[in-house]
Amino acid sequence: MPELPDVEVFRRYLQRHATGQRIEDVSVGDRRILHGISPHRLSRKLARARIVGTRRHGKTLLAALDANRGFLVLHFGMDGRLRYESDGDGGGRYDRVRFDLEGGRRLVYESKRMLGDVNFTDDPDAWIQDHALGPDAWTLDEAGLRRALGGRRGGLKAVLMNQAILAGIGNVYADEILYQAKLHPEAKVDGLDDASLGRLHRALHKVLEKSVAAGADPEKMPRTWLLPNRHEGARCRRCGSAIGRIKTGGRSTYFCPGCQKKR
Ligand SMILES: [Zn+2]
Repeated sequence: MPELPDVEVFRRYLQRHATGQRIEDVSVGDRRILHGISPHRLSRKLARARIVGTRRHGKTLLAALDANRGFLVLHFGMDGRLRYESDGDGGGRYDRVRFDLEGGRRLVYESKRMLGDVNFTDDPDAWIQDHALGPDAWTLDEAGLRRALGGRRGGLKAVLMNQAILAGIGNVYADEILYQAKLHPEAKVDGLDDASLGRLHRALHKVLEKSVAAGADPEKMPRTWLLPNRHEGARCRRCGSAIGRIKTGGRSTYFCPGCQKKR
C-alpha cells in the first residue's frame, strides 16, 4: 500500500513529467474511483488547466493548477500508481482515470482494487482539515512529534498509523520505524520516556528520508533494515533473534523480540 515514501516518489514523478503541461481532456474509465465528484465536474475543473506544481500531505498528492484554478487530488488506496506516457498509446486494463496532456502525452492513474480517490479541491488546507488529517509525518520536528503524540493513548504502532494523529505512515513503515527506534509495537504511547521519544523521532525521520532516496523500493534499502526481512524465518541483523510476527489492529506486524522489548 502506498505510504508516505511511495507518494513522495509519485510526487517527484508527477513534478518531473507533468509540470508545465496543460491538461487537454480527462477520461474516467471507472467512476468508482471518484468520491463526491462526478466525471463531468472533474473534467470541467481540470480541462484546459496547466499543472504548475505539486504538493504532498501524508499519503495525499495534490497537483496545483494555473490561474488559481484549484488542485487535482490523488489518493492511492491500496495499489494506486501514476504512469506517464510521452506517446500516449499504452492503455492498460486497470487504467481508471486518464489525463490527456498536450502533444499526445498522457498521465494515467491506475489501480486494480480501486480503493483510492481521484478528486478536486479549491483549497488543500481545507481538504486536509475536512479529511481530519494530522500533520505530515515527514515535516514534523521533534517538538511537533511530541505535540502530536501528547495526551494520546493506545499502542504505539496503532497511534503512528492513525492518520488523524500523523499523516503518512502505514503498516510497513510503522514496523520499520519502530524496529529502528527499538520500541515495541504495542508499547503504550503515554508510557514513553523522553529518550524513547527522541529515538522515535530520529528513526522516523531517517526511515522516511532514506526510503524516499531509495525510490521507496525495498530492494534498494539497506539489508540491515527490517523491510527486506519482513518474512517468516528472517533473523534480526542486529541481534540474531528470529523476527516475530503478531497481529495489531488486524494487520501483520513484524518486529524483533530481542531488540524491541515491551517495557
Ligand atoms: Zn534484534
